[in-house]
Amino acid sequence: MQALTFQGKGKVTCEEVPDPKIENAGDVVIKVTSCAICGSDLHIYDGVMPHMHHGDVLGHETMGEVVEVGADVTKLRVGDRVVVPFTIACGECFFCKRGLFSGCERSNPDREVAKKYWKNSPAGLFGYSHMLGGYAGGQAEYLRVPYADVGPIKVPGGMTDDQALFLSDIFPTGYMAAEHCDIRQGDTIAVWGCGPVGQMAIRSAFLLGAERVFAIDCVPERLTMAAEAGAECINFRDCDVVDVILQRTGGRGADGCIDAVGTEPSAMTSVDAMIDQVKVLTYIGTDRPVVLRQAIHACRNWGVVSVVGVYGGYIDKFPFGSAMNRGITIKTGQTPVQRYLPLLLDHIVEGRFDPTFVITHKGKLEDGPDLYRAFRDKLGGCVKVVLQP
Ligand code: NAD
Ligand code: ZN
Ligand code: ZN
Repeated sequence: MQALTFQGKGKVTCEEVPDPKIENAGDVVIKVTSCAICGSDLHIYDGVMPHMHHGDVLGHETMGEVVEVGADVTKLRVGDRVVVPFTIACGECFFCKRGLFSGCERSNPDREVAKKYWKNSPAGLFGYSHMLGGYAGGQAEYLRVPYADVGPIKVPGGMTDDQALFLSDIFPTGYMAAEHCDIRQGDTIAVWGCGPVGQMAIRSAFLLGAERVFAIDCVPERLTMAAEAGAECINFRDCDVVDVILQRTGGRGADGCIDAVGTEPSAMTSVDAMIDQVKVLTYIGTDRPVVLRQAIHACRNWGVVSVVGVYGGYIDKFPFGSAMNRGITIKTGQTPVQRYLPLLLDHIVEGRFDPTFVITHKGKLEDGPDLYRAFRDKLGGCVKVVLQP
């Protein structure tokens, strides 16, 4: 089959790779009808996600039709149309039973690699490094889906791929980012990053009752998209973001601050520190990462800083004193996508949320290398890319 593969920093190619097969009785194989490129894929593309091997198949936002079913699968049949959560979860372990699927203790077979970095291990993810299971990704014609009774959700007839696809990641992630802010009617939320995740977070914040949302970025098309949702835009190149937010909230700060940016590769000052013989990405001795610091400083006393932007390593000069003395709660995590699916599917079906607004670019798998570049460099107003193999 054809698939997009990682070939080193800044290099993605469309290659012929072996078709996936059922490996365990709980697996299904799907024929991919739509998949997307995510900001998380850019961390791989930018070379800041360790333990990616040349030739690894990329992609974790995928949907399609079930074409093969393992012997133990009870909920899916050949021909079902499904969206696949990017988080792989067994459904039975300590964390899965609590609905914390992205903490699954059984879906990452390479746990020791993650433990070298993080002392413990999260769940496995599709197409996202051998620290997180080394699973082949879904920017491909076919995808093997482990624990198929736990992850994929059936798409109702009549719902288009474009409406359903973002249930795999960015809609639940943006929603969780907002939910973590414990929004009350009338609250003010600030969102750093108007990429696809930030866009979902902005609209989710309004859905959950926010009265005002500040949207922070520097890309004009992305700020415009945020303004169309009713957000007040702040271009971080034109001003001191923290000052502006404090001014516009009467000196108090935003009730919730969402980091939908994550690792800023240009700010990594040391990518060669070694811990337990593993390279560790570190922000050292700079004022970076800008976003996390601004989010803490712009948050009101006893507010929430909600971090969904992905970080890999260590952060120097983290303003923990400001957070502690002002009672700030920091919430974060890879999204336990499965727990949000029933609710968010309902929001789409009932017309309360239409995630399709974010799509600006479409192509085939072979357009993938060009579209990775367009998405990373924000060319031609690119906000979200959907590929149809
Ligand atoms: P993206 O790269 O398209 O968007 C990031 C945006 O941040 C860009 O528009 C960029 O211009 C903006 N930005 C850069 N520096 C900034 C600054 N200093 N202030 C404000 N904005 C700034 O990516 P995306 O797809 O929207 O994803 C965003 C983040 O969310 C990534 O780190 C991604 O890995 C992460 N993510 C996390 C989860 C999760 O489960 N927690 C899931 C999906 C994505
Ligand atoms: Zn993603
Ligand atoms: Zn589990």
